[in-house]
Order: sequence, then C-alpha cells, then structure tokens
Amino acid sequence: MAAPHSPSRPACATAAAAGAKPADARRYTGRFAPSPTGPLHAGSLVAALASWLDARAHGGRWLLRIEDVDTPRCAPGMASFIAAQLAACGMHPDEPPWQQSTRGDAYAAALRRLADAGLAYRCDCTRREIDAALAARGIVHERFAERIYPGTCRPRPDGRGGPRGRPRRAWRFRAEGVVHWTDRRLGAQVQDVAAEVGDFVLRRADGVWAYQLAVVVDDAAQGITDVVRGSDLADNTARQILLQRALGLPTPRHLHTPLVLGADGHKLSKQNGAAPLDLARPLAALQAAGAVLGLPPIDAADPATWLLRALPAWAGMIAALGNP
Ligand code: GLU
Repeated sequence: MAAPHSPSRPACATAAAAGAKPADARRYTGRFAPSPTGPLHAGSLVAALASWLDARAHGGRWLLRIEDVDTPRCAPGMASFIAAQLAACGMHPDEPPWQQSTRGDAYAAALRRLADAGLAYRCDCTRREIDAALAARGIVHERFAERIYPGTCRPRPDGRGGPRGRPRRAWRFRAEGVVHWTDRRLGAQVQDVAAEVGDFVLRRADGVWAYQLAVVVDDAAQGITDVVRGSDLADNTARQILLQRALGLPTPRHLHTPLVLGADGHKLSKQNGAAPLDLARPLAALQAAGAVLGLPPIDAADPATWLLRALPAWAGMIAALGNP
C-alpha cells in the first residue's frame, strides 16, 4: 500500500533540507484522522501538527483520513473545510483523503472474520441494563468513566448467556488478555482490557461501525506505521492492539501528544468552547500548537517556512525522548 510519494512533493524536500533522517517514504506512513464533527481548533491542530512533523522528520508519508462513521454527528462540508484548514497551515496530505463512510465493506469483512473465529458475538443489552447489571455487582458507572461490559450476552460454555432475541443487536469483541505496549512519549503502558474495559463494541445496534474496528482496519489498509494522536486516545490503544492481533494485522508504533484543556479542565472541544482555527492567522495557530508540543518559538513569515524550521526542533525533541 505504501507507495513512495512523488519526489516533487515539497514537504519531503523540506525534511531533507532540515537535516532530518534520510527520506525513506516506504518505512514511515503517518496519518491525521479527525472526526468531522466540527472545524479544527487549537486542540485538534496539536495532533495534526505532531503527526505531520513526525512523518516529515522521518522522511515519511502523511495521510488524512476523515473518520465519519458516525454520520449523524458529522457536519456537512466539514471534511473539505478541515482539509482547507490544514492547507492554510501548510500541511498537505500525500494522497486524496479516505472517508470511513465509504469503507463499510472492509469493516464487515473484518467483523465476519472475528465472528467466524468465535471472537465476536451479538449483544442486545441496553445501556440501562448494563448499568443495572453493574449496580447489582456494586459498581456505579461514573460519567466519563469506562462502562465495563458485564458480559451478559457473552456466549458461555454451558450454553447460557446470549442475546434475548431483540431485533436491534450490537456486535462485541471478546476481550481477553493484558496488553503491554510502549508509547514513544509516555513510555511503558499496560492495560488489562478484560478487567478495565470488558468486551467492547465493534458495531453498534444502530449499525454504526465502532471507532476501534474502523481505525484498526484502515490503519492496516493504509499501511500506517506510526500513529501520532492526542493522549485522550491513548486508552484505546490496548483495545486496538487486541484487534490487530485477532485479525493478524501489524501494530503501528504510537506517540500520544499533550492535550489542550478547556476551561472545565477537560480536553478542549466544541462542547467546552473551542473556537475554530482563525484561518487569517495560521502562524499564530502553529506557534500555539508548537508550544503545547514543547517546541520553542519559531520565527517565520509564512506557514511553510514555520513548518520547515520546526522539523529539526521536533526531531531533536523526539530523539531526546529516546524513542525516535
Ligand atoms: N477520529 C478520532 C478523533 O478525532 C481520532 C482517531 C485516531 O487518531 O486514532 O478523535
């Protein structure tokens, strides 16, 4: 999948000119994968910038993937608006963006493989029933916390369990095992997925594909070698690694970036007042995103020059972390 990009791409030349690693586009493919629920803001630009810098500092390819599986939450026209915002900041993907809303057949094939292997099962529990089952075990579900699936519908060797025959049913993954992985910034990580998450959803009862399945299928199909994204998503990595193992797919390397917080202390988002990026002032936006990533102030007259000058600073910072 990972065809080398055209040598005429200026960004690769910029990496080489900046003294970063020699260009070997086949060895590194990164991506920025926004959900088009709103325009890019100061928080999402941090992830976009980090993924771009890391790809270019490795002489690699950088792709844009629009994660629009949950179509009712996606704003019309937002995919092209986000691409225009990235372009205004000097970041241009090496291929036309993929849209997850067109990838249903690939997700269905992956789900079939998991089901055939006995690793996915149907579930018709409502949220209320899950909360009641958890409450019966003395567990109160806190807002923002993981709702650990109690396994009600998981088929059991004694033939018990299984759905109640309601028409609207989700698919869940049989999550087993403790996953150890290394984040290039955060270091060694461990999650007992069965205990901390439980069997997680692959396809919702309303037919919407779950983020976990879509991201794993697409990262493999696009030959993604390196995932660079916000640290609010770090907690999903162990689930994704379990799916990669179950589907026989490679696990990319991971780097989770610092987050920009809103006034309420949660990750900056549309809900807590994030303003869309001011396209009239892309340099100020890049400077602010760079500061969150730990880059020094960079003097530049335009976004392309800013990015070019940021590359050696990023490469040096990542090298200092010990996991370049
Ligand atoms: N679509 C996800 C989001 O916007 C990011 C997915 C990823 O980078 O793995 O939060």
